[in-house]
Amino acid sequence: MNCYYHQERAAVAQCGKCGKGLCQECIDKTEYTFDEKAMCRDCNRQTIDFLLEDDKKEKNKLIIKSAIILVCLIIGLTIYLSTQDAFTAIVICGIGGIPTAWKLTKRSDREKALDDIDDRLSDDGGLFNMLIRGIIRVVLVVAFGAVAAPILLIINTVRFFKLKKEIERLEQQSINFSY
Ligand SMILES: [Zn+2]
Ligand SMILES: [Zn+2]
Repeated sequence: MNCYYHQERAAVAQCGKCGKGLCQECIDKTEYTFDEKAMCRDCNRQTIDFLLEDDKKEKNKLIIKSAIILVCLIIGLTIYLSTQDAFTAIVICGIGGIPTAWKLTKRSDREKALDDIDDRLSDDGGLFNMLIRGIIRVVLVVAFGAVAAPILLIINTVRFFKLKKEIERLEQQSINFSY
């Protein structure tokens, strides 16, 4: 078998994914592997395009999330500056941080199991306890949301620039495999 891309050269291996014959130069140029084997140009480009699409989706999600956080922070601050209503301001500032705060206050399965045992032992109103826990969690989430929002904004910005660089790198790679 000869190299799929260099018909005059003998193939020394096959693409790990699609089985096309590859010469040494093609093997040396591979950027990604499949099953620890070198891949052909087409399979390399497919992999790159897949990664690119993934990164672009994440970048778009990041932009939307950050825009929501930013708008909430601006509205919250504007309310505080014009009405001095700190409570409303904190609640609105925290809206963008609520999904993260919600996840962070989630109890582990172990804690839940221990609580269930407690409930059975004490035999008092389990429903009442659940209600109290629910209220405490909502209060925590709202308060923590306001703290989480600006931190998230910073984390998202750093991630955004990392993704932007990664996308540029992948786009260059994609060009390199398009000849
Ligand atoms: Zn291939
Ligand atoms: Zn070749």
